[in-house]
Amino acid sequence: MIDYSLIPVTMIKGVSTLKQQELHAFGISTVQDMLLYFPFRYEDFRVRQLSEVKDGEKITVEGRIVSEPVLQRFGKKSRLSCRIMIESWLVTATWFNRPYLREQLFQGRDILVTGKWDQRRLQLTVSTSEFPDRGAFRKDTLQPVYSVGGKITQQWMRKTIAQALTQFGETIPEILPQELVRRYQLVPRKQAIRTLHQPQDAEEGKHARRRMVYEELFLFQLKLHMFRALTRKRADGVVHEVSNSTVREFVHSLPFELTEGQKKSVTDILQDMRSPFCMNRLLQGDVGSGKTVVAAVALFAAVRSGYQGALMVPTEILAEQHMRSLTKLFEPHGIQVALLTGSVSVRKRRDLLGALQMGMVDILVGTHALIQDDVYFRKLGLVVTDEQHRFGVNQRSVLRRKGLNPDVLLMTATPIPRTLAITAFGDMDVSSIKERPAGRKPIKTYWVKHELLDRILNFIRREIADGRQAYIICPLIEESDKLDVQNVIDVHVQMQQAFPDLQVGLLHGRLSAVEKDAVMRSFGDGETHVLVSTTVIEVGVDVPNSTLMVIMDAERFGLSQLHQLRGRVGRGQHQSYCVLIADPKSEIGQERMHIMTETEDGFELSQRDLELRGPGDFFGTKQSGMPEFKLADMASDFAVLEQARDDAAELIRAEEYWTSPMYALLREEMQKDQLFQGELMD
Ligand code: ADP
Ligand code: MG
Repeated sequence: MIDYSLIPVTMIKGVSTLKQQELHAFGISTVQDMLLYFPFRYEDFRVRQLSEVKDGEKITVEGRIVSEPVLQRFGKKSRLSCRIMIESWLVTATWFNRPYLREQLFQGRDILVTGKWDQRRLQLTVSTSEFPDRGAFRKDTLQPVYSVGGKITQQWMRKTIAQALTQFGETIPEILPQELVRRYQLVPRKQAIRTLHQPQDAEEGKHARRRMVYEELFLFQLKLHMFRALTRKRADGVVHEVSNSTVREFVHSLPFELTEGQKKSVTDILQDMRSPFCMNRLLQGDVGSGKTVVAAVALFAAVRSGYQGALMVPTEILAEQHMRSLTKLFEPHGIQVALLTGSVSVRKRRDLLGALQMGMVDILVGTHALIQDDVYFRKLGLVVTDEQHRFGVNQRSVLRRKGLNPDVLLMTATPIPRTLAITAFGDMDVSSIKERPAGRKPIKTYWVKHELLDRILNFIRREIADGRQAYIICPLIEESDKLDVQNVIDVHVQMQQAFPDLQVGLLHGRLSAVEKDAVMRSFGDGETHVLVSTTVIEVGVDVPNSTLMVIMDAERFGLSQLHQLRGRVGRGQHQSYCVLIADPKSEIGQERMHIMTETEDGFELSQRDLELRGPGDFFGTKQSGMPEFKLADMASDFAVLEQARDDAAELIRAEEYWTSPMYALLREEMQKDQLFQGELMD
């Protein structure tokens, strides 16, 4: 098998070392990269009949020049025109600013012109023209349009890829198992690649694309499955030895009974933890489904089997909250919980790290501060990451490497569409909590215009009179912008004036950790009635007595974010409400507000969000570990993705796979892939 990923692009005729450097910017360094650099669209140069084209269309037609060209100059600009007989029509063709073409336009010469058709005036504004007697023009084809820039021009790219196809196109090997090619009647690889660059028609292009999309997703899935199998095959993970009765004792000490989803998740997790393989599990569950307590059971099991546990969260507020709730849960069992965040004082930090290293701390809760270089555990057995979608993949692996292959549990409250789940977390086992704890009522959501603010204030007052609490969220446009904080401060003042007899708290990112903690504590204890806040409370915050979430300028938030915010209420027995205050101008904006009032299902919301915003935006940052595909589209190629996943799973189950050239090839690629980096040890 010839491996084109080893042949440098300079082997293609016409690619100098200078060009080679420029191609780097496009991620092209080998012949394979070049062959797989597919056009993002095609220009239709197929010759058509004038009688079948519509006014204003861009067309290519064939004709004969029947008049002397006329050239007019206006300063630097010029206009060249001549008459062309096309079928039985006499058409005026016009070239702007290409005076040098005049010599080539002589009567009786055949010509192919592409341009914009003006039906009424029988005129064609020419963008390109060719002369068949020169043989340069490929008639009846779609021309590829590549993403180019800098010194790489469209023409050069077309020519070079065509050259690459001439030199190497015939020997492109098939890499998919024959069985799959047959099963799905896929176009052979070399044909598909050629067609994508030089399709004859749309139908052919469609088949070629289908083949390459399948290949792309299949290989990706194969890598994920391999990764999983490789990390699982290494039976050198931590074996947590803990009895069911010990765990049951803890579960019974909880103030409530676990839901079915929670029980099932706990069972999955304990099974993984007890095995010699590394747990790599995602716990997925909508906001308020009760993931924290599942993590608590897992951490308990880790400690009881003689190990330490770590719980990493994205914000200090959340870290403080988990610290409080875990301490409450674990104290009766004599388990030591400690907190490490960026704002722990130097001295305290030093003491804490010492205690951690000596094994005097059983569970460490914290933010990114947990993964700094000088943090050593004595015996780290389990790592839990809460709100995983807020972290990049790398952080996960750094923490994993702190212990001797600790078990890893990731939790995410942002239910992500299945497509994205498969790709972003495809290397993991998944447990889901589908239901919410019993007795919860649906959160009633309303969308109102700003002008109704007075009524909302009355509403807030009534809830507080009933003994409940409320959040008022203000948007933050740029974290660094002072004005935005001013916005939340203004609203705070406004609310203090509206409710002079109530305690109105204020929370935003510019407060110190100590101040934030004091504010959250006061709200958590029910001393503060109304909390005016930025989105710093977006994830994880849990104050079950709060029943009203008011979101100002709600059109500024994404659907998933609104859903997260709304998830701060509806956490107790009481009826809860979410009020979106928004005057969206655009139709999409209004649509989004409607969607929010219609559904409370996080999965559905995320799907709608994906459709409205596109996958690129979904996770916010590139950091999130979402792979980028050349051809596949996460929204429309969903069915293929699922099929590819199953096929890949089937393939690696076969013993022969692990000695096949395909395995060797992918293994190599995985070593270079950021997605697997650091986690794939030999
Ligand atoms: P999330 O999944 O959003 O992280 P939490 O873990 O914060 O949810 O749980 C939401 C609330 O529900 C918390 O107040 C928690 O104590 C409570 N809770 C969790 N599990 C149950 C249960 N099985 N029965 C009743 N309440 C529960
Ligand atoms: Mg949570």
